[in-house]
Amino acid sequence: MKVSKFGGSSLADASQIKKVVDIILSDKERHFIVVSAPGKRSKDDTKVTDLLIALADMIIAGKDGYHEIKTVLDRFKIIIEELCLSHELLSDIVNVLKSRIELDIVDNNKFKDGIKALGEDITAHIVAAYINTFNTAAIYVNPKDAGLILSDEFGNARVLNKSYKNLSKLKESTAIVVFPGFFGYTESGDIVTFPRGGSDITGSILAKALDVDIYENFTDVDSVFAASPGIIDNPKAIEEFTYREMRELSYGGFNVIHAEALQPVFEANIPVHILNTNNVEAKGTKIVAIRKHDDNPVIGVSGEGGFSCIYVSKYLMNREIGFGRKLLGIIEEEGISYEHTPSGIDNISIIVRSNLLTKENRERIMNNIRKELEVDNVYIEDELALIMVVGEGMQLSQGVAELITSSLTKSSVNIEMINQGASEVSIMFGVKESSMYNAIKGIYNVFFNN
Ligand code: ASP
Repeated sequence: MKVSKFGGSSLADASQIKKVVDIILSDKERHFIVVSAPGKRSKDDTKVTDLLIALADMIIAGKDGYHEIKTVLDRFKIIIEELCLSHELLSDIVNVLKSRIELDIVDNNKFKDGIKALGEDITAHIVAAYINTFNTAAIYVNPKDAGLILSDEFGNARVLNKSYKNLSKLKESTAIVVFPGFFGYTESGDIVTFPRGGSDITGSILAKALDVDIYENFTDVDSVFAASPGIIDNPKAIEEFTYREMRELSYGGFNVIHAEALQPVFEANIPVHILNTNNVEAKGTKIVAIRKHDDNPVIGVSGEGGFSCIYVSKYLMNREIGFGRKLLGIIEEEGISYEHTPSGIDNISIIVRSNLLTKENRERIMNNIRKELEVDNVYIEDELALIMVVGEGMQLSQGVAELITSSLTKSSVNIEMINQGASEVSIMFGVKESSMYNAIKGIYNVFFNN
């Protein structure tokens, strides 16, 4: 059996939903379906989830949200009419939307989650109803009834362990199960959503709970590529890579599948197959636990900007017990999580996401470091990008780092920092944001164009 998840672009309008249902009906093993909310129909369009967020914001601000309500309802009205589904479905949607809007606003995030979740919820009802028109039994399953229990972190929920046992009972369904992605319920019964893009997480949880053979993730690309097509023309397609490689590449900005979504399938060792709804013939990309190695030690290269480095140096730092702990304590006190801490004998850099630093906390961090640690030098450097060069084969090959550094020299890119994790699945380079594209091009050419 398979869990098949369809993303927003696969469900953007009635013609896309028809493709999705064709795909579902073409394979009996596609028995557990997870859906996102309708995404963009064109470049300038707005995702339904964004429309719902705008609506929730209006209501929170005390406005009537008339325009936003109409836009959301129109999106679903067209879909329902074009799929020739019953008008009752539309009146149900109006009623549920109305009841969510009228709820008391005790906590803004909690209220927002109730509205945000509607996109997936309504879409699951529509897809189940449309499958039924083909004389095939399909049922909408509500995450509360199925026991998908999440932590009460609104907009940022995590799955609670007991959900897996609850969800495993869905195996008994003889009808195709259509499950809305992106949200679940807290122990006290409130709707709560995962982070954005979280339908991938729902699919992965379901795959683990049902112990399926494969987790299919349908999107709008033929495969994952060895580098972003926005930077490299016609990059090489990746046919198969490991969970670890995917995790490392997505850290560097690959966003084909939500990184957090890989955890449940990784734990259960269930392969993920990324496929294209608009081109079912394409092979797609598989994410597996172990893969065959080819001659190339590198599987892909990715990069992302928006990092800052807090640089600290002190003569004889290596002799000072507790220096690292105190330094990280100062960062912790500010409620900031750090990404990496490359270090030398007398210096250490703390890499953080720049959006976590404000004018005020920058000052406080620098002052506290000076005061508590009596350092020789401390400063913050912004506009850094992290480049991830990834490949399981790197453990087995020599000279990979040299190939990368010489390609960066050739591309006139200055390396600000190098970090190789103990796992040897990746090497990370810090470069100035302005040289990120050149760096990726240079590294890609060495490993994929020679
Ligand atoms: N609809 C949600 C979002 O746009 C979740 C998802 O599509 O996975 O973030």
